[in-house]
Amino acid sequence: MPETSPSVQDYLKAIYHLARREGRATTTRLAAVLGVTPASVTGMLKRLMAEQPPLVVYHPRRGATVTPAGERVALETIRRHRLLELFLVRVLGYRWDEVHEEAERLEHVVSEQMTNRIAQLLGEPAFDPHGHPIPDRKLALPAVQGFPLAQAEVGARLQVVSVSDGDAAVLRRLAEVGLQPGAVVRVAGRTAGDHLLSLAIRGRAQPVVIGPAVAAAVFVAPAPEMTEPA
Ligand SMILES: [Zn+2]
Repeated sequence: MPETSPSVQDYLKAIYHLARREGRATTTRLAAVLGVTPASVTGMLKRLMAEQPPLVVYHPRRGATVTPAGERVALETIRRHRLLELFLVRVLGYRWDEVHEEAERLEHVVSEQMTNRIAQLLGEPAFDPHGHPIPDRKLALPAVQGFPLAQAEVGARLQVVSVSDGDAAVLRRLAEVGLQPGAVVRVAGRTAGDHLLSLAIRGRAQPVVIGPAVAAAVFVAPAPEMTEPA
């Protein structure tokens, strides 16, 4: 396995996530996600393809996917990131909107031994604070589930599965209204040309109205049937 730099790890993580979510990682999408120019993306993809063993497969028109060696680096990085986020929340008392930036830095420097010690301390957890699955020691990662709340039908009864962790302001708003993984919601209505969602959130007396940026950050699945406590 080649030694990889932080920037190689970031590329492989981004390619892995994009390919999983959108079917493929194009140069344009990678440039947008990583905040670099398409030309530097192309340069890096060629470099990653020339590694021994190759870390990506890249076709100029079809985009990039990770090879098994590249996937391993991506999953190890994702495992460190998500475990670190949970460690920061549970052990150091961070709020869930404060941990992503810290984890983006620390994910490149924490050793495998420390990663496994953190996992052990936290009881080999399966999910990070935002509801994203944590790859286990063998790097097995359950399939992504849920669809964006923004696409939900009026009247649907749903459970929050996960939330995007990149935007701290959105995360603070989600915590404020109680839209955290596990929360059960009903879509009460849509207003202002479908742009605002009115939600009845279990455990809250008043319905909550959220805008498109917040709705796009929440991923939901049909709520399981509940037996009400006696
Ligand atoms: Zn994160």
